[in-house]
Amino acid sequence: MDPDDLEMANEIKSKVILHWNCRDLVEFPEVIRLHGSHIREIYLKWNKLTTLPSWIMELFNVTNLYMYGNLIKQLPVELGKMTQLTVLDLSDNKLEQIPSCIGNLSNLKSLYLNDNFIERLPFEMSQLSNLEILSVSDNQIVALPEWTGSLPKLKELYADHNRLKELPNRLTTASELAMISVCFNRLKYLPLNGFSSSPCIRFHANKYLNYMSYPLLFQLLSQLRITCGCFKTHYDASVINTNIKLYVETKILYEMNNVIMNDVIIELPRQLLKIHEIHENAICSLWELALRKVYTDRYKHTLDVSSTKVTIFYRPLFKSTKLDFTLSSTNYTLYNLLTNGPTSICVNSQCQQPIFTEAWIIIGINCYADSIITTALCCSKSCANAFATHSNTTIKLHWHTIN
Ligand SMILES: [Zn+2]
Repeated sequence: MDPDDLEMANEIKSKVILHWNCRDLVEFPEVIRLHGSHIREIYLKWNKLTTLPSWIMELFNVTNLYMYGNLIKQLPVELGKMTQLTVLDLSDNKLEQIPSCIGNLSNLKSLYLNDNFIERLPFEMSQLSNLEILSVSDNQIVALPEWTGSLPKLKELYADHNRLKELPNRLTTASELAMISVCFNRLKYLPLNGFSSSPCIRFHANKYLNYMSYPLLFQLLSQLRITCGCFKTHYDASVINTNIKLYVETKILYEMNNVIMNDVIIELPRQLLKIHEIHENAICSLWELALRKVYTDRYKHTLDVSSTKVTIFYRPLFKSTKLDFTLSSTNYTLYNLLTNGPTSICVNSQCQQPIFTEAWIIIGINCYADSIITTALCCSKSCANAFATHSNTTIKLHWHTIN
């Protein structure tokens, strides 16, 4: 054995936590394979590794693996056999894809994939039932999958500096979420419903974001976590998509107060297919009524808006604690809408029906946050009227659809 290897072997034998950061290593040292079966934590940060060896699965006592700041482009499928791993840090590498085998890491609690070139997260990651921290900032992700809202223990989600246009609606029903950070993205709207876990949401530097729903605004105000500069009125007309867009007249209101603010175009979540004005007589589609009925039969939900806090609960009426709609009994779109949760709950406190694709909408400026446009969704004309009558904190704005 050469002297270097001998020295490394001796070092390994005396340790359970191995700190071999900044050593210009180009390969995962094989000496760990030979002498390190007892090692629990491995730090190989800031080296020059381009991959992990397939024999890494033999290190069956390693629970924490820190590979931050290497040149890793690919991961071996054998990584998926390290089911004892609880912390995996692959940040600041060259990864373009995350292999599906990562879904086998059933004990993983913290997964750091920041600062890579990842465009999508594989569906198999939805099996990470013990994951508490998912950090995917500084990548090229366009959409976080809806299943992120179904990770049963997820507490912290970091996805700053990506290309996100929207957040999964299902996140609003996640029960353990305490932190969502999505700054520096391309978000056009946040979920309209409040979050049942009332998490801290960081979302500054999303230049297309220009409004917020009534429940979410109150939820954030009650946490005193809303920060200035979150909202801009910029709108890029070249963006093509199918979401309903509304032209909101704010100019007149502000001219009265000698404040300059231009009319605003806001874009609604894609789940909403049809909206009505407050006094509009219309009958909801059978489709929408069916969604409301099926959801309400399985779930009890409450929206409680007070001046001090907003709480939202989703409770299954039966024993099952997770969303239990079966695909066989319904079609795929219906299934997705139901499992992702309602777009909003009717803001009329006497009603609180779930709303999925169709709503009466009231747009206004709230006196508690007068630079923020708010939207309130109601399930019917009568609820919209009731809400408008009882809500004396919102100045209503005129609007019309533009697509
Ligand atoms: Zn209602």
